[in-house]
Amino acid sequence: MMIGLEIHVQLPTRSKMFCSCPTTDAEGPNTHVCPGCLGMPGTKPVMNRKAVEYGIKLAKMLNCEIPDTMWFSRKVYFYPDMSKGTQITQYENPVGKKGVYYMNGKRPIRITKIQLEEDPGKTKRFGDQSSLVDYNRAGTPLTEIVTEPDFTTPAEAREFLRQLIIDIRHTIDLPDDGERSIRCDCNISIGKERVEVKNVSGLKNVERALTFEAVRQTKVLKAGGKVERETRGFDEERGVTFSVRKKEYESDYGYIHEPDLGLFHIGDLARSITIKESPAQTAARLSKEYGIDGKTADQIVSTSIGLAEVFEMIAKATGSVKTAVSWTRGAVSSNWKAFEASGKDPEGIAGILKKLEDGKITDVEADMELNSYMTGRDAAAIKEQSADLSQIIDGYLDAHPEIIEEIKKNEKALNRVIGHVMKETGGKYSSSDIVSATKNALNSRL
Ligand SMILES: [Zn+2]
Repeated sequence: MMIGLEIHVQLPTRSKMFCSCPTTDAEGPNTHVCPGCLGMPGTKPVMNRKAVEYGIKLAKMLNCEIPDTMWFSRKVYFYPDMSKGTQITQYENPVGKKGVYYMNGKRPIRITKIQLEEDPGKTKRFGDQSSLVDYNRAGTPLTEIVTEPDFTTPAEAREFLRQLIIDIRHTIDLPDDGERSIRCDCNISIGKERVEVKNVSGLKNVERALTFEAVRQTKVLKAGGKVERETRGFDEERGVTFSVRKKEYESDYGYIHEPDLGLFHIGDLARSITIKESPAQTAARLSKEYGIDGKTADQIVSTSIGLAEVFEMIAKATGSVKTAVSWTRGAVSSNWKAFEASGKDPEGIAGILKKLEDGKITDVEADMELNSYMTGRDAAAIKEQSADLSQIIDGYLDAHPEIIEEIKKNEKALNRVIGHVMKETGGKYSSSDIVSATKNALNSRL
């Protein structure tokens, strides 16, 4: 089985790719449009510099070769959602090619190319056979990331996409609106011919569409049939793919160079742009530099890059990786949301744990200080609450010593303690407080 993906990412520019229309949500259909993005005769596209910068950043993140000169092409696009009849995209010389992305920091997935292009509008079909077109989206900047057919299972394609989306968001500061701004074309072949399932959105749907196709193509081949090269759609509700049209070959698109845009010398710009370390790279580095296992590093990084930075601060301040790991995963991460909202200095967290490491305060005191510092709650109130909580938890652990062993094996067993305390106290304490109090209680018993 061979699977390749084409991933479309909407770039977070404020205006469209070739005109100044806004990309924000519009108050009504066809309100964010101008003669340019409607393709009226006599209008000329003007390149959005920000879109080029985003393209270069993503090309760098994907370890692509970036050319000194790039240009655009016109592709025949004879559908009503693009009123020009052509789409501006890249073909021979895109913003990046021949890249590689490392899944789990190890397994290489080859990136064929990354190109810049404009999005078409949206067609809405109605039951009475009529259609309406909304061009608000037409001209929104997209990048298309094309992979080689390097995936061997639908689950692997999904996992790649999950990791890639995290890295893309981080690299170009893409707001986290779920998976809305990312769509995927999935290519899959079991035998000789390749089938493309267009426009699948959401990780789960990518895996479902690919799995459906794998089974369908296998059945066709087993029955002695032939899989046709075609483009298919995916019906999310029924979980099936359906034929849309026979697949075009690249020559059918009739690419020509886009004469209205000319050449872009991006070499100097590309060399001047540096990108942030991606979350995947951070996880790999933490694991190597601090000798912690990959899963733990991944867990810390995927909670938040900020949490990973605090982990490094604690490790440096205390000189103990063990302390940094256990507190980062414990009290620091359970109070993380409140802390991020507070805008306080993360050095304060490292400072409290340094006092602990130096023997100036106890475990319990450190926990309380962290809680108070990170959430902004009153220390005396936390002290009182934690005394109450630890009494209830100690009582429960004394009566059910087997839970201690279970939690050591699997942290999920903590849920039993949380459930008990919640019931006992009528939901007076938050689950994160209960978890951190339970961890303290367990620590003192080990
Ligand atoms: Zn416009």
